[in-house]
Order: sequence, then structure tokens, then C-alpha cells
Amino acid sequence: MAFENLTERLQQAMSKLRKKGKVSEADVKEMMREIRLALLEADVNLQVVKDFTKRVRERAVGTEVLDSLSPAQQIVKIVDEELTKTLGSETVELTKSPKIPTVIMMVGLQGAGKTTFAGKLAKHLMKTENARPLMIAGDVYRPAAIDQLKVLGQQLDVPVFDMGTDTSPVEIVRQGMALAREKKNDYVLIDTAGRLHIDETLMDELKQIKEIAEPNEILLVVDAMTGQDAVNVADSFNQQLGITGVVITKLDGDTRGGAALSIRSVTGAPIKFIGSGEKLTDLEIFHPDRMSSRILG
Ligand code: GDP
Repeated sequence: MAFENLTERLQQAMSKLRKKGKVSEADVKEMMREIRLALLEADVNLQVVKDFTKRVRERAVGTEVLDSLSPAQQIVKIVDEELTKTLGSETVELTKSPKIPTVIMMVGLQGAGKTTFAGKLAKHLMKTENARPLMIAGDVYRPAAIDQLKVLGQQLDVPVFDMGTDTSPVEIVRQGMALAREKKNDYVLIDTAGRLHIDETLMDELKQIKEIAEPNEILLVVDAMTGQDAVNVADSFNQQLGITGVVITKLDGDTRGGAALSIRSVTGAPIKFIGSGEKLTDLEIFHPDRMSSRILG
């Protein structure tokens, strides 16, 4: 499971301190060195590591901590709080449109898990809000993606609007939006194409879809297994398109998990969901404090 190594390393770094009755500034420094290494090994972005360790150190060497009765516990608490802060502090909910439909556009590289997430989100909205979503199949470059979305639609009993692969995604979205308005669907979930790498044509197309659909949310779906690359991808999608949230998939896998820790700081966009498996029920709402506890073990 994700974070196992990081958890172990962080616990090791902090356990030395826990054994001590009195903690010196040198002890804190040594612990911070180990935490820093653990984070870097888990693929956390260097700048994020620097900011995080600086904040923890500043608070930890504060006299009220070192002179307190249980300095080690206090420092563990500080690590937890600062980790939570790095992850975004609070859960950020989906932005809804004041009038239906709320439009949510999924973007990301090929294979990140966009189509799967669209299905998971539809299921989640149906369960929690009794929603009546419509999904639009906009990934015309990967014919299997359209079929995949249709299969998900059948499983969930959710309509999927598609026009095959010969019409431009922009036109598909235009017509899909018109249908959703006519049928009074409360959510429109747009599955878009991804490429293996970010390219200009892809971004131009996404920008056009954004203009037509006026989405309330542009959710970037990234694969946690891609580590640092996920952070770079998030950064450039954000700069080009202005993402409103991030979905991190495959956190169930054997990932070092650093992406989850870096993405919020690097993009400023909140992580809204995490994918924890291939099944439609493997979706979790992202809670920074719970994720921090999970990482610290
Ligand atoms: P897309 O190209 O971005 O639409 O990606 P897909 O939705 O087709 O997903 C690519 C692969 O990743 C598929 O085999 C999915 O089953 C798998 N996948 C998606 N989300 C998760 C997840 O959270 N965990 C795991 N283990 N696999 C996932």
C-alpha cells in the first residue's frame, strides 16, 4: 500500500526523539535531517520538502516546545499539523453551479484514470445526492475510451452521449451540453482525451471545450505512480488551463506517494478525490488530516 516506506521512515525519525525525556535543538536538527531524507526518497518535490522542514523546525525549536513536559509528542503533533497544511488543510468540496447542470470536465494524460474516475464520480453523485448525471464521451482518439465509458454508463444506468470518433470533441461537447439542458440532467461529466505527453494540440482542444462547456470544475486526473512527473504534469495543465481541483489515482498501488504531498503546494489546486482501486466504489473524498495521519501511521 502507498506510503508504507515513508511511514516507516518517518516513524523511525521520530521514535528516537520519543525515547528522550529532554530534547535538544541538536536532536530536532537530526530528526529533521532524517525526515527530509525520507520525504525526498518518497519522491516529494524538493521545494516542498524544504518549506515543510523549515516550518517544522521553526516551530519545534521554539522554547515552549523544548521546555515542555513532553517535547517529543509536541513535535510529532507539529509534524502532523504541518503535513496536513502541506496537503491543503481542509477538504474542498466540488463547486456546484447555481443552476443545473453542474459541469465537470476531466483532463489528464492518457492512462491516468480519467474515464474510470468519470464512472466513479457518477456513482458517487448518484449515491450521495440522488443525482442524474449525463456523461459525454469526448476522447475520440482512443476508440476504446468511448466503449469503456458506455460500459460504465450501462453498469450505472447513466446516459452516455457520444458521436463516435469522426466528430470533433468540441462539437460533441456542444451537442452533449444541449442534450443535458433539454433532459435537465443536474450534472454533466465530460471525459476528454489525453496524450502520452502534453502537447499544444491537446491543450488547444481542451481550451475550446472549456469555452463551450463553461465547466464549474476542471479536475486534473493524475496517476500517483508517476511520481515527480505527476507534479510536472499538474503544473503545466494548471498553467495552460487553470485547473480547479486534482484527483490522484492509483494510490492503492506500490507508489512512494510523494506526488500526493507535492501537488497541492506546487499547483495551489486542492486535491478533491483519490482513487484507491479499479472498481467503481474505489473512490475517496480527500481529507488532508486523514491523509497526514495515514502517512504518519
Ligand atoms: P484514461 O486513459 O485516463 O481514461 O484512463 P483509464 O480510466 O482508462 O484508466 C487506465 C487504467 O488505470 C485502467 O486499467 C484502470 O482500471 C486503471 N485505474 C484507474 N484508476 C485506478 C485506481 O485508482 N487504482 C488502480 N489500481 N487502477 C486504476
